[in-house]
Amino acid sequence: MKTLKEIHLNQFQLNILLDEEEKEAYRYIVQEGTYCVHCKDVCIEGVEVRENILNDMNDILIKGVCKKCEGYVSRFIEYGEFGDFVERANSFRKAIGE
Ligand SMILES: [Zn+2]
Repeated sequence: MKTLKEIHLNQFQLNILLDEEEKEAYRYIVQEGTYCVHCKDVCIEGVEVRENILNDMNDILIKGVCKKCEGYVSRFIEYGEFGDFVERANSFRKAIGE
Protein backbone atom coordinates (compact mmCIF):
# COMPACT_ATOMS: atom_id res chain seq x y z
CA MET A 1 0.00 0.00 0.00
CA LYS A 2 1.18 3.47 -0.93
CA THR A 3 2.04 5.72 1.99
CA LEU A 4 0.16 8.97 2.03
CA LYS A 5 2.01 12.24 2.30
CA GLU A 6 1.58 14.71 5.10
CA ILE A 7 0.01 17.86 3.73
CA HIS A 8 0.07 21.23 5.43
CA LEU A 9 -3.35 22.76 5.00
CA ASN A 10 -4.05 26.45 4.73
CA GLN A 11 -7.30 27.86 6.12
CA PHE A 12 -8.98 27.74 2.73
CA GLN A 13 -8.07 24.09 2.18
CA LEU A 14 -9.23 23.18 5.67
CA ASN A 15 -12.55 24.83 4.94
CA ILE A 16 -13.23 22.83 1.80
CA LEU A 17 -12.12 19.60 3.40
CA LEU A 18 -14.44 19.68 6.41
CA ASP A 19 -18.21 19.46 6.27
CA GLU A 20 -20.38 21.38 8.74
CA GLU A 21 -20.39 18.64 11.37
CA GLU A 22 -16.64 18.20 11.16
CA LYS A 23 -16.11 21.96 11.42
CA GLU A 24 -18.21 21.91 14.56
CA ALA A 25 -16.02 19.15 16.01
CA TYR A 26 -12.93 21.10 14.98
CA ARG A 27 -14.14 24.26 16.73
CA TYR A 28 -14.97 22.32 19.86
CA ILE A 29 -11.51 20.75 19.97
CA VAL A 30 -9.76 24.08 19.40
CA GLN A 31 -11.86 25.90 21.99
CA GLU A 32 -12.17 23.38 24.78
CA GLY A 33 -11.19 19.88 23.76
CA THR A 34 -7.39 19.97 23.82
CA TYR A 35 -5.33 18.88 26.78
CA CYS A 36 -2.34 21.04 27.74
CA VAL A 37 0.55 19.13 29.27
CA HIS A 38 1.90 22.36 30.73
CA CYS A 39 -1.35 23.41 32.47
CA LYS A 40 -2.15 19.74 33.22
CA ASP A 41 -5.68 20.59 32.24
CA VAL A 42 -7.63 21.30 29.07
CA CYS A 43 -6.66 24.56 27.40
CA ILE A 44 -9.34 26.52 29.19
CA GLU A 45 -8.85 29.56 26.99
CA GLY A 46 -8.54 27.49 23.85
CA VAL A 47 -5.75 26.92 21.39
CA GLU A 48 -4.19 29.37 18.98
CA VAL A 49 -3.80 27.18 15.91
CA ARG A 50 -0.49 27.48 14.06
CA GLU A 51 -0.68 24.51 11.72
CA ASN A 52 -3.24 22.08 10.35
CA ILE A 53 -1.79 18.94 8.87
CA LEU A 54 -3.53 16.19 6.96
CA ASN A 55 -1.42 13.23 8.01
CA ASP A 56 -0.67 9.86 6.44
CA MET A 57 -3.72 8.29 8.11
CA ASN A 58 -6.04 11.00 6.75
CA ASP A 59 -6.42 12.40 10.24
CA ILE A 60 -5.98 16.07 10.92
CA LEU A 61 -3.21 17.11 13.25
CA ILE A 62 -3.62 20.50 14.87
CA LYS A 63 -0.48 22.19 16.17
CA GLY A 64 -0.73 25.36 18.17
CA VAL A 65 -0.20 27.05 21.49
CA CYS A 66 -2.31 27.04 24.62
CA LYS A 67 -3.78 30.53 24.96
CA LYS A 68 -3.38 30.42 28.73
CA CYS A 69 0.26 29.40 29.17
CA GLU A 70 1.53 29.75 25.57
CA GLY A 71 2.93 26.23 25.72
CA TYR A 72 2.92 24.07 22.59
CA VAL A 73 0.03 21.70 22.18
CA SER A 74 -1.01 19.30 19.47
CA ARG A 75 -4.05 17.22 18.93
CA PHE A 76 -5.26 14.66 16.40
CA ILE A 77 -8.76 14.68 15.05
CA GLU A 78 -9.43 11.21 13.79
CA TYR A 79 -11.57 11.97 10.80
CA GLY A 80 -9.77 9.08 9.11
CA GLU A 81 -12.28 6.75 10.75
CA PHE A 82 -15.17 8.34 8.88
CA GLY A 83 -15.67 6.94 5.38
CA ASP A 84 -16.87 10.10 3.67
CA PHE A 85 -14.06 12.24 5.08
CA VAL A 86 -11.54 9.77 3.67
CA GLU A 87 -13.16 10.06 0.25
CA ARG A 88 -13.03 13.84 0.40
CA ALA A 89 -9.44 13.78 1.63
CA ASN A 90 -8.40 11.48 -1.18
CA SER A 91 -10.04 13.57 -3.90
CA PHE A 92 -8.46 16.65 -2.32
CA ARG A 93 -5.06 14.94 -2.52
CA LYS A 94 -5.70 14.15 -6.16
CA ALA A 95 -6.80 17.74 -6.87
CA ILE A 96 -3.57 19.19 -5.52
CA GLY A 97 -1.51 16.59 -7.33
CA GLU A 98 -0.40 14.30 -4.51
ZN1 LIG B 1 -1.46 25.58 28.93
